[in-house]
Amino acid sequence: MRTLVRYGYVPFMLLVVDGAAIALAAGGHPKLWLLGLLFVAVGASFAAERVLPYRDDWNVPHGDDRRDVAHAVVNETLTLAGLAVLPALTAVASIDGIWPGSLPFAVQVLIAVLVADLGITLVHLASHKVPALWRLHAVHHSVKRAYGFNGLMKHPLHQTLETAAGVAPLVLLGMPSAVASVLALCVAVQLLLQHSNVDYRVGPLRAVLALNQAHRFHHLKWAGAGDVNFGLFTLLWDHCLGTYSYDPERRFRSDDLGMAAKPHYPDGYLAQLAEPFRPSGACTTKNISN
Ligand SMILES: [Zn+2]
Repeated sequence: MRTLVRYGYVPFMLLVVDGAAIALAAGGHPKLWLLGLLFVAVGASFAAERVLPYRDDWNVPHGDDRRDVAHAVVNETLTLAGLAVLPALTAVASIDGIWPGSLPFAVQVLIAVLVADLGITLVHLASHKVPALWRLHAVHHSVKRAYGFNGLMKHPLHQTLETAAGVAPLVLLGMPSAVASVLALCVAVQLLLQHSNVDYRVGPLRAVLALNQAHRFHHLKWAGAGDVNFGLFTLLWDHCLGTYSYDPERRFRSDDLGMAAKPHYPDGYLAQLAEPFRPSGACTTKNISN
């Protein structure tokens, strides 16, 4: 069973879950099915972490479980709201006739994933360099353990900024709402994989796909050390920007994660929503830690 999870978990999430979303959306099925797939993905994430944990203690709540549920519910609800207004936005802002709608649906989704990957990765990188953005992004870096579900844990304003940057070019291109719905599910699945506490293996793909082996380096707490591996779906832009980092010998503990400059970041949901707007949420580029 552990071997099955080690080598089968990522293909299950990327090919079966995302693949089912593509098939359902391409077949014109109600978008509610995609919400069902999100629950399947979250369930699979927790189950795989029990079978093959990277660290046993990262499966134990650190007083963060209810807060992370609140983050996930709010952020996924925002995503659903964004999908609801997308057709109106596209009707107003898109340039007619550009979207390659004659291509197979799966290829259209792949195009959306790659375009969104660039925008989201660049906003993520900027969030580590610009103090005003870091205030918002610091919420996500306050975690002391990495497990799938806390990939969805981020300040809703920061998620909105990242999403806007990732989706704006696609709106201009006239992305159909069915493609956008699958893209939203692919983002959630990717966040679950990227922060996963599953000790899975993907071979040489670990240098191409932005999965947990590379992303743990991004959560190192020391100034500068975590300014690597910004990609959401791929590490292609990190290779181009010179921000790719990987050491196969490196192992991670809770003490390695978080923010060295902000060791007492608030833990509660409402406190985390407010922190970016409080004096204590301020920072300079000198103490931006990851
Ligand atoms: Zn970050």
